[in-house]
Amino acid sequence: MDLTARPRRLRRDGIRGLVSETDLSASDLIAPVFVDATTDERIPIGSMPGHERVPIDEAVDRVAEIRETGVEAVIVFGIPESKDAEGSRAWAAEGVVQEAVRQITTETDAYVITDVCLCEYTEHGHCGVIEPHAHDEPTLTVENDPTLELLAKTAVSHAEAGADMVAPSSMTDGMVGAIREALDEEGHADVPIMSYAAKYESAFYGPFRDAADGAPAFGDRRHYQMDPANSREAIREVELDVEQGADVLMVKPALPYLDIVRDVRERFDHPVAAYNVSGEYAMLHAAAEKGWLDLEETAYESLLSIKRAGADLILTYFAEDIADRL
Ligand SMILES: [Zn+2]
Repeated sequence: MDLTARPRRLRRDGIRGLVSETDLSASDLIAPVFVDATTDERIPIGSMPGHERVPIDEAVDRVAEIRETGVEAVIVFGIPESKDAEGSRAWAAEGVVQEAVRQITTETDAYVITDVCLCEYTEHGHCGVIEPHAHDEPTLTVENDPTLELLAKTAVSHAEAGADMVAPSSMTDGMVGAIREALDEEGHADVPIMSYAAKYESAFYGPFRDAADGAPAFGDRRHYQMDPANSREAIREVELDVEQGADVLMVKPALPYLDIVRDVRERFDHPVAAYNVSGEYAMLHAAAEKGWLDLEETAYESLLSIKRAGADLILTYFAEDIADRL
């Protein structure tokens, strides 16, 4: 037995930090913020302990709380005062996200990213335009091309309100190109796009739907989000977004898809983001509540593993808690 190689030599106190390969810091983290135009007080989100929907006039306070922990960036989701078939409040100049972003960017130094999608704004809860009468049909399709124009209008309205970056999440083919073109035409060539490039149709999104009130009223999102069985397709998806001008490439969810994070990291030189989703957050909280897991340790290890897999940025509901520890 050859024992000249002893990896344990480098695991002692004092040297562990020096040889550590992965660093997690508060500046890697993006905290989601839910702004709700239907309420004038904060509403706790049951399945996401520690998170709340906040009214528009508390958005600034909410972001200030996040900034105090050392987290510098937020992604804003909106719950509109009303919904319709098209999702027209998504691009309204006085819409919930636009109003919140205006206030946050005026009163804080936070880097503000906005989620660009229609599902929180449509009565049917899908991420785009649905043909009239489709409600009666057993198979549902969200119309791809008519949706592009609405996403582009939404992204422009966010940029006009002051958003530093837009993040289209609807998995509409051509969405990055359509948004890039519209932003450039409207004088927002300096606003980058973080594309939800490989977004899977995942059961881990459950708690988010409580938070953003975005569950589809019927059907599911299998026709536009990716099949969890596929990885080569993810590369193809990401390639298309790169061709269309995406600046940051996101994989969502994170933990069940670390192989995809690694693949994207290896194939592309763009910054890679991973979304540690609501279900990944909720399950650690649920286990910790039962006393089965240590919440802070498992949360930290989760984020470290996402970073180790190749993510540069992590969107996570643990952002504040972990930043405090760091
Ligand atoms: Zn959506």
